Amino acid sequence: MSSRRNFLQKLSIGLSAAALTPLSSPASVFPDLRKPVKQLRVALMGLGGYAGIVARAMKECKLATLTGIVTGTPSKIATWKSNYGIPDKNVYNYDTLHTIANNPEIDLVYVTTPNSLHHKHVLQVAAAGKHVICEKPVADNAQQAREMIAACKKAGVKFYVGYRLHFEPHTRELVRMRKAGEFGNIMHVNNYMGFKIGDPTQWRLKKALAGGGAMMDVGVYALNGARYATGEEPVWVTAQESKTDMVKFAEVDETVTFQLGFPSGVIASCGTTYNFNNYERVYLIGDKGFAELSPAFGYGPIQGRTHLGPMNQPLITHQAAQMDGLADCILNGTPDPGMTGEEGLKDMVVVDAIYESLRKGGEKIYLYKK
Ligand code: NDP
Repeated sequence: MSSRRNFLQKLSIGLSAAALTPLSSPASVFPDLRKPVKQLRVALMGLGGYAGIVARAMKECKLATLTGIVTGTPSKIATWKSNYGIPDKNVYNYDTLHTIANNPEIDLVYVTTPNSLHHKHVLQVAAAGKHVICEKPVADNAQQAREMIAACKKAGVKFYVGYRLHFEPHTRELVRMRKAGEFGNIMHVNNYMGFKIGDPTQWRLKKALAGGGAMMDVGVYALNGARYATGEEPVWVTAQESKTDMVKFAEVDETVTFQLGFPSGVIASCGTTYNFNNYERVYLIGDKGFAELSPAFGYGPIQGRTHLGPMNQPLITHQAAQMDGLADCILNGTPDPGMTGEEGLKDMVVVDAIYESLRKGGEKIYLYKK
């Protein structure tokens, strides 16, 4: 059993004792320890690189706890069980997933499988009556995202996308300043995100599992960032692709630039790549000020500056903040900061249009009827 679980056990014994002891001063400044700490119990599905990062981060969480796993690789089970104190009865594979419906120790399944499996897996989790967080990109296209939203709605479960930056302090400060009018009217946005991808045999380079290339994987950061930098939804899209390695990128896009036109007249000029590093930035400029985050989208440290000087927001573990934050939304009804399935759908509508523009040689695609 992990030391965290021991701690929680001791905490819960302490809480029961506290429940019998009335506080001497009603005006106490200390939190009311008579209330039990309710936690969201999470199963991770697809135990790859990102699931490992989420699991380690969750050791910091107060409102969320890892209680289960779903994996297609039996050899991973022993290590995960011993690292996170997961009992046999909370271990599933993709064929037994439906039986998670009968497990009262799991409230939510976090889908961290390859992109093109998200649709199928989210539908399965919803059918089992569990809340779901799905990694980005939420689906291969907007139609799949709509079906996922409908399935979760029908099942009465919450559906979030792992847009962890919406809990990241620099990003939140940028959004706060924009909403408060501190940049004035937004005039332009310039976002990009990419990296040089390694192993040429990995699923990210196979269309059937990845749905697309750099645009699908990390271009969504630049796109989502353009939406929170402006607070608007794009009305048209144009896109261009450059491909320098026809073998490695035979099935998926390598480097894509795209432009998003917003109702206010602002144009966001964005890019994404799988073929070079040091390409990661959010930049927005208004008629009163600007903000720049760079790096903007990785796990940190996020760095930022505005017309007022350097940003000094705290550096946090993104995944821990996300999991505690979403647990708070589910358990206590706090408003989510823009991570619902509907937000994922809004991005997929634009991604669809970007790929359509690429297919049509850069043609301007209107997202809403003129
Ligand atoms: P990995 O390849 O490291 O892990 C994916 C896991 O999915 C595998 O380990 C496997 O787990 C499971 N899986 C099920 N079916 C397949 C299959 N046919 N082929 C390969 N794996 C399969 O990928 P990542 O963890 O890097 O990415 C997973 C998802 O998380 C992606 O959607 C990605 O976009 C997203 N992601 C998000 C990040 C963020 O910052 N928000 C960062 C990185 C990734 P098992 O063996 O247990 O079944």
